[in-house]
Amino acid sequence: MQCPFCKATDTRVIDSRLFEDGTQVRRRRECPICDARFTTFERAQLQMPYVLKRAGTPEPFDEDKLRRGIEHAIFKRPVPPEKVDHAIENVMRKMRAVNEREVPSMRIGEWVMDELRDLDHVAYVRFASIYRAFADVNAFREEINRLEQLPTPEARRSQLLLIEAETPAAAAATAAAEKRLLADHEKPAKATKRVK
Ligand SMILES: [Zn+2]
Repeated sequence: MQCPFCKATDTRVIDSRLFEDGTQVRRRRECPICDARFTTFERAQLQMPYVLKRAGTPEPFDEDKLRRGIEHAIFKRPVPPEKVDHAIENVMRKMRAVNEREVPSMRIGEWVMDELRDLDHVAYVRFASIYRAFADVNAFREEINRLEQLPTPEARRSQLLLIEAETPAAAAATAAAEKRLLADHEKPAKATKRVK
C-alpha cells in the first residue's frame, strides 16, 4: 500500500490484529522512505443484494418488508421478539453469503420457512401457503387445525416432517390419512342420529 505522506509505492506492515469481534483487521504500517506510521482497517464489504421478484424485476432489499412478512406469519403465536430478530439476521446472512448482485425472492422465502419451521409450525404453514400455493383453502385450513391440536413438540416435529415431504406419494398418503380421520369422526355421528 502506498504511503499517504510521501507517496512511496510500498509500506511495511508492522502490526496486524483482529478488531471488532474479528470482523475487521487493523494494521499498523510504516513507510521505509519517510518513516511515517499509519493505520488501515480491512473489512468485508457487506452490501445486501437486490431481491429478484417473480416477474424478473430486481428491487432493493427491504428489511422492514422481511420483518412484516415474518410478523404476519407469527401473528398471535408464542414467538418472542428476539427470536424474530435472530431469524431475520439468519436470512440476511444467507443473502450476503450467496455473494451475488441479486437473490430470487423465492429463495429468500425458502430461507424464511427454514427459520419459521424451527420457531412455530403454524407460522410456518401460514408463510408456506403464500410461497407454495396449497391445492385449496380447505386443505390449508385443515393443515393448520391439525397442527394446532398437536400436544407435544415431538408430535409437532413428526407432523412437520409430513409437510416437508413434498413428493406426490407423501401428499397422497397425507390425504388418505385425512380421509380416514374424517370417516372415523362421521361414524359415531351417524350412530347418534339413528338412536334419535
Ligand atoms: Zn512515506
